[in-house]
Amino acid sequence: MVEITGTVAQRGEKNVNANLATGTVEIQAQGLKIINPAETLPFPLDDTRLINEETRLKYRYLDLRSQRMQKNLRVRHRIIKFIRDFLDEKDFVEVETPYITRGTPEGAREYIVPSRLQPGKFYALPQSPQQFKQLLMVGGIERYFQIARCFRDEDQRGDRQPEFTQLDLEMSFVSREDVMELNEKLLIELVKKIAPEKTIQTVPFPRMSYAEAMEKYGTDRPDLRQDKNDPNLLAFCWVIDFPFFEKTDAGGWTFTHNPFSAAKPDSQADLLAGTNIPAILTSQYDVVLNGSEIGGGSIRNHQPDALTAVFKIMGFDEARIQKNFGHMLEAFQYGTPPHGGIAWGLDRLVMILCQEPNIREVIPFPKTGDGRDLMMDAPSELPPADLRDAHIQIRKE
Ligand code: ASP
Repeated sequence: MVEITGTVAQRGEKNVNANLATGTVEIQAQGLKIINPAETLPFPLDDTRLINEETRLKYRYLDLRSQRMQKNLRVRHRIIKFIRDFLDEKDFVEVETPYITRGTPEGAREYIVPSRLQPGKFYALPQSPQQFKQLLMVGGIERYFQIARCFRDEDQRGDRQPEFTQLDLEMSFVSREDVMELNEKLLIELVKKIAPEKTIQTVPFPRMSYAEAMEKYGTDRPDLRQDKNDPNLLAFCWVIDFPFFEKTDAGGWTFTHNPFSAAKPDSQADLLAGTNIPAILTSQYDVVLNGSEIGGGSIRNHQPDALTAVFKIMGFDEARIQKNFGHMLEAFQYGTPPHGGIAWGLDRLVMILCQEPNIREVIPFPKTGDGRDLMMDAPSELPPADLRDAHIQIRKE
């Protein structure tokens, strides 16, 4: 790293280099100071598509200097800023919810954190702020959002990360229509502002039921682009009317999306009675972009008996329901507004807008497919004293 003093001057016509951002000027140096000597970099920064990804991740701080990462992080920043400004304008309040908390079922395994002060007890890192955002509705916040980190300890199939970012939002006194309309507007405005070179294929976004999507496209994430080779074409759609429950391997029932969702009004009687289970539909709505699910949400069960009915269908007995969800059921007894919301997988949206092939390219410090941070060398072993403090004994396999 050097400090040069001198004069920035126009280059002579013959020396202009149109391929460089600074190709029309040059510095006529008068002084040179070495601020910090630098080793030769482990890889060149011009075209990182050619560099082995593990090497890029190990030296992420160098990779971040590449034009590609500089651009991606700036686009990410601008997207998040746009969302914040848009929602602020509409009277949403950004609220932070805890990261060390109690588990919440959303279909994935949780990361656990041992408690030093409460021996033998554990916190869980949230799979999403779902319960907190609903409790914020009980708390009178009416319009909440958060750029929230979520944690899921899953086998890393495909394009997933152990921690990822959601735009999470929740609103009181709304219908499914209200939430979908707000989000559609936000997505359209965002594309216009951040990626004006892109065209949205169909506005308003087409809507189809889960049954229709499966029948026509064989997937609930259809890629509706008329020209899949057009890098600037964005085809959004909404998928609605999902079945509430699906069979588990053990022959019981589990939720398809979110246990806190309300059934569609026509299905409410069956939900409460626990009858016709495969036909019960949820108020869930998913937003799909070019074949990727970029968001999903629902209107919630704000009545305690409807929420209890969901857990009963899943085979939970009264004691288990009380132990795991007693706090939600109690909260809902104190006059809870009807509410609903959504969460976007922000990394995926940024990835598509940046035209990147995977979410690691738009996450500043991502992990490998098997959950390792190559730069920090995490996860790592702990010294025995730290384990003792956390009341943990490692079992030798
Ligand atoms: N909590 C849900 C999720 O993480 C989203 C929602 O229903 O708002 O997928």
